[in-house]
Amino acid sequence: MLFEQLGLSANILRAVTEEGYTHPTPIQEKAIPTILEGKDVMGGAQTGTGKTAGFTLPMLRRLEIYANSSMSPAKHPIRALVLVPTRELAIQVYESILNYSKYTDLKSTLVYGGVNMDAQVNAIRSGIEILVATPGRLLDHIQQKFLTLSKVEILILDEADRMLDMGFLPDIKKILTFLPEKRQNLMFSATFSEDIKKLANQLLNEPVLIEV
Ligand code: AMP
Repeated sequence: MLFEQLGLSANILRAVTEEGYTHPTPIQEKAIPTILEGKDVMGGAQTGTGKTAGFTLPMLRRLEIYANSSMSPAKHPIRALVLVPTRELAIQVYESILNYSKYTDLKSTLVYGGVNMDAQVNAIRSGIEILVATPGRLLDHIQQKFLTLSKVEILILDEADRMLDMGFLPDIKKILTFLPEKRQNLMFSATFSEDIKKLANQLLNEPVLIEV
């Protein structure tokens, strides 16, 4: 299969080609069309399988289709939220999004703990559609009213098992209360403990299970 057959746009395919990718990986072949259909996904995938592109490419495509370019930058609502367990993963996912979105009009930024909040607040206020965040710092931003999540269309939990291992479940549950009910949910986890299954049951709506 070729990337061109998956339903992505020319803007996104151009970036993918520049990355040097010729063929989608197995998780990309399955996840990209499913996510483009708007379905919830439970993905079982380790790092190294190409899962990041597997969820970011269709996320970008969905945001691109409904982009409202007439809105002023400051009014861009956050439309996609990617929750990750660590600062390192936040940076990695954010850099992938930057790469894959470079020929689109979509803007993104990231927030994680342990650093001053000011620069993060400024980046958010400049107008972004996609936010990559660690749960604790995101809650700080929400509680200080630095951002609103009421327009989020897509929620992604990456490395959900690590987030639970790190004790982020209460934070995640709190964050969910700030999201609109109607949204697409994607969850990725390398392992499937009872706790992961429970969270998946609470979060996902008739999910398509994708395992590689
Ligand atoms: P991930 O599993 O998302 O951490 O990705 C692992 C590595 O695979 C990253 O360095 C990606 O740039 C690379 N990658 C992702 N998709 C493809 C692809 N379709 N072809 C070649 N490399 C890829």
